[in-house]
Amino acid sequence: MKLHEYQSKELLASFGVPVPGGDVADNSRDAEKIAELYGGRVVVKAQVLMGGRGKAGGVKIFDDAGEAGRFTRELIGKRLVSPQNPAGIVVEKVLVAERVEIEKEFYVAALLDRAQQKEVIMISAKGGVDIEQVAAETPDAIVRLYVNTKWGLCDYEIRDAVERAEIDRRAARQMVLLIQRIYHAYLSSDATLVEINPCVLTADGRVIAVDAKVTLDDNALFRHAEFAQASDESAEDPIEAEAAKRGIAYVKLDGDVGVIGNGAGLVMLTLDEVARAGRKAANFLDVGGGAQAERVKQCVELVLMDTNVKSLLINIFGGITRGDEVANGVVNALEELDVKLPIVARIEGTNAEEAKRILAGANLIPADTVQEAAAKIAELSA
Ligand code: GDP
Ligand code: MN
Repeated sequence: MKLHEYQSKELLASFGVPVPGGDVADNSRDAEKIAELYGGRVVVKAQVLMGGRGKAGGVKIFDDAGEAGRFTRELIGKRLVSPQNPAGIVVEKVLVAERVEIEKEFYVAALLDRAQQKEVIMISAKGGVDIEQVAAETPDAIVRLYVNTKWGLCDYEIRDAVERAEIDRRAARQMVLLIQRIYHAYLSSDATLVEINPCVLTADGRVIAVDAKVTLDDNALFRHAEFAQASDESAEDPIEAEAAKRGIAYVKLDGDVGVIGNGAGLVMLTLDEVARAGRKAANFLDVGGGAQAERVKQCVELVLMDTNVKSLLINIFGGITRGDEVANGVVNALEELDVKLPIVARIEGTNAEEAKRILAGANLIPADTVQEAAAKIAELSA
């Protein structure tokens, strides 16, 4: 799960990382009020989960609270587009942050290097909006400090890495402290990424995290009740948020066929067959093993919330999951939700015969194989 900048900063601040003051707003009046607290000297920053907001026009510096408010009005509801995110994201909130007088911009990150099977701290004296270019053109300007898995991160190693990165001497001691703290935050919150770009040296000699990006390990979220709130606020897609709440694996895609299956492998196969039949899936959803009728109903409900869905393909292979349970779930969903879309269903495996009897009474199109189901979907959509 990716945290918004304001959430990332809150988290890092709780581990002692210095961040500028500020607050979030979803309207111009609130934004103006926050800006007034800082005498109008603020930065208004779109809270969207994408890189390159500055270049996309989502970050602007002010010295007047009224103007900060007006910019907020312009920004909210606008779609920001960046090379990293060509589809763009609509801005719903802004962070109105205390403006910092920047002298130097650095880059610092703690992340997992999967290839090395180690955590790594990355440090660069060339932080700021062009860090991708630095990485591509002068990779040596980014120093990597691999964490020894046995004894962790030692102070002298951090000092050495900061020196190798040629961080301004005035910032060096504070950088060492900051790196200890972000690494502590990274470990304690089960993050997979903590990135600060830029981390700045201010005109009055302080080191502050001006931007922050934290990604948490979804598989460890159960250990962190403190992130439950953040999870609702950082979901990009309302249906994904709802699915997460119900504990259902749901992924949004860009076609028009809703896909429900059980087990990741079978769902992947179904997507391939839909594509082979010349159609594109709108989403896919894994009902999981041993799904009961109620859960299946919830899954159908979720998939149909997506207004792009024009037809639905249900592909179940019963093992632990019983075909008749799934069939009952589908029939209940059809009755309660007043579904108008065509549905093709293929249920094989445990209790498949009974499933077929149950489905025979319902208004849907049966299929015996995945290929047949995909072909029938393609005919419908043609
Ligand atoms: P990003 O483009 O999404 O990475 O957004 P950032 O938060 O990193 O902001 C982009 C750039 O705006 C930074 O690299 C800074 O140069 C500038 N910026 C952000 N906050 C401040 C600030 O408080 N003062 C000044 N002078 N510049 C800032
Ligand atoms: Mn940034």
